[in-house]
Amino acid sequence: RRYPNGVAFMDGQYLPMSEAKVSVLDWGFLHSDATYDTVHVWEGRFFRLDLHLDRFFRGMERLRMKLPYSREEIEKILANCVALSGHKSSYVEMICTRGGSATFSRDPREAENRFIAFAVPFGSVANKEQLERGLHVAVSDTVRIPPNSVDPSIKNYHWLDLVKGLFDAYDLGAETALIMDTNGNIAEGPGFNVFTVKDGKLKTPAFGVLPGITRQTVFDLCRQTELGVTAADLTRDELKQADEVFITSTAGGIMPVTQVDGLAIGDGRVGDLTRQLMDLYWQKHSDPAWSTAVAYP
Ligand code: PMP
Repeated sequence: RRYPNGVAFMDGQYLPMSEAKVSVLDWGFLHSDATYDTVHVWEGRFFRLDLHLDRFFRGMERLRMKLPYSREEIEKILANCVALSGHKSSYVEMICTRGGSATFSRDPREAENRFIAFAVPFGSVANKEQLERGLHVAVSDTVRIPPNSVDPSIKNYHWLDLVKGLFDAYDLGAETALIMDTNGNIAEGPGFNVFTVKDGKLKTPAFGVLPGITRQTVFDLCRQTELGVTAADLTRDELKQADEVFITSTAGGIMPVTQVDGLAIGDGRVGDLTRQLMDLYWQKHSDPAWSTAVAYP
């Protein structure tokens, strides 16, 4: 492979990752004024790319950002990054930042919005061992930024609450974190949504969370297999008393959780329904209705 660490696109050029640099005066860097989306390529195929592009374009519109590229052009750029990198399994990110202006103006309307894309080797929230035995999660009292402050349906880099939760979890001896919503219910974690299974029915928080594409994929798999699923408030007690728990993210798909706050979930092993959904999820990656092939050179 020519680019083992991946390929980026910026300012009309494809570059090795190490050469892709942004200005420190970019509002994206200075103020987290950016939106982004991530999509993955598995065995040479994008998974649900349309849904990720829909979310990206919706976010830019709501943030009043505009790029000089059409949806089709962006799709092509992402595929080119993957193809140039040569990686068959890849984590692909598209970013629109507010940008900056030559005069360092404080008026965001004067900034020139910037598009950056990159494809790097696929990464997962959970490593191989954690996927086999289930993640150990701690719930932090940290509250996720409220949805009337930062709209969670616009994918964004407001992560200080999530990173604080992560350090809280490390201090408690756990591997990752879940943080709360403004009402004290479970919200989400650093880069993932969460589901519980109780008496054969699934539940995931609805309020103040990013509507994840993997979360949506779980809803779609439930519909196809006639499994019951609801999006509603999830309490900390409900989480701990669940039969099964799993998290969902583009970075890793459906990933089992077997400990919450040091206590075993169910019998402490990866649940049957979780396993079935994981299998179905990966099977769908070769289904042409849900995935599109990358043309490698
Ligand atoms: N919540 C947050 C805060 C995230 O950043 C992400 C993904 N990066 C998710 C949930 C999961 O979303 P998706 O399934 O679309 O990757």
